[in-house]
Amino acid sequence: MRPPHSPPPQARLLLDSAALAANWQDFAASVGRADCGAAIKADGYGLGARAVMLRLAAAGCRTFYVAHWQEVPPLLPLPDGVTVSVLHGVTVEELPAALELPARPVLVTPGQVALWRQTGRPCEAMVDTGMNRLGLAPAEAADVLAGLDVMVLHSHLACAETPAHPQNEAQRACFADVVGRVPARAYALANSPGALLGPAYHFDLIRPGLGLFGGGNRPGGWPSRPVAGMQARIIQLRDVAAGQSVGYSAAFTATRPTRIATVALGYADGYARGLSGLGWAEVGGVRCPAAGRISMDMAAFDVTDAPMLSEGDWLDIPFDPNALAALSGRSAYELLVALGQRFERVWQ
Ligand SMILES: *Cc1c(COP(=O)(O)O)cnc(C)c1O
Repeated sequence: MRPPHSPPPQARLLLDSAALAANWQDFAASVGRADCGAAIKADGYGLGARAVMLRLAAAGCRTFYVAHWQEVPPLLPLPDGVTVSVLHGVTVEELPAALELPARPVLVTPGQVALWRQTGRPCEAMVDTGMNRLGLAPAEAADVLAGLDVMVLHSHLACAETPAHPQNEAQRACFADVVGRVPARAYALANSPGALLGPAYHFDLIRPGLGLFGGGNRPGGWPSRPVAGMQARIIQLRDVAAGQSVGYSAAFTATRPTRIATVALGYADGYARGLSGLGWAEVGGVRCPAAGRISMDMAAFDVTDAPMLSEGDWLDIPFDPNALAALSGRSAYELLVALGQRFERVWQ
């Protein structure tokens, strides 16, 4: 129960535990004897990192990745047998906190390795096989890591979303060479699109993120199952005459007598401004298009064909990251991680 005077949220994310678990199980089944972890950085791709971790752990996932040490405390306490690793490694400033937290770094520079070596603790490490973003150089990795207990040695693909891109095979071959030379207990290369490139990319562990949360594809070539749906309260209903316009810049003009529902959902909540005129609400199977500009805190939907609505009703606003990415010109990644903190996140 909420405290008596806590204002109730006016927008909800309805989150589908079964879809999340099924997406993960599809990835896990596709890698055979390799392990399937989960990237839950950026608050579990906007869905709520701890809630996501608990549901994936219940589905069998044991290995979780975040980007920052800051992202570890909200996950605590960890379920039994679960490990959390921090993809950015660890800096001098983060070290005191890192030593108190039940997580380990994915070390990315020789300086980080030297720092962590003094702790005597196990680690993971990242080798850069051609993305030129983060990680040890392949030629230096064996020397830099010598003597450390490397639980997982990682690399990351730059072009996995484009299966035919020649850099995929170049990075895979480079990583296979590293695997032969640099001792570690396990090796991991693939994110979600990387896992779909085939068994040669699976090594011992995959690190899917997006594909678990409804973006991109899952194994078998199927689109990932959407995990989130939005609901927002109708603040006001109004009847607009043909020729009148709605919202900022008068971007929508009614061509017929039109009923407009103004709801408590805007781009501050992650309903992207790029969905202006393109997103939609759904009422009993009727598609009600977004009318005009999405505002920061509000959006208007043309509900002329759904006359049963009243002020105060909850409007269902589908949130399929792939479909909305195609419409909005933003990536499914951006749409997910932009989901705001004003939503009540309701797991079903
Ligand atoms: C974010 C991230 C992932 C997950 O990537 P997706 O494309 O969301 O599956 C995997 N590995 C690393 C190193 C990452 O930074």
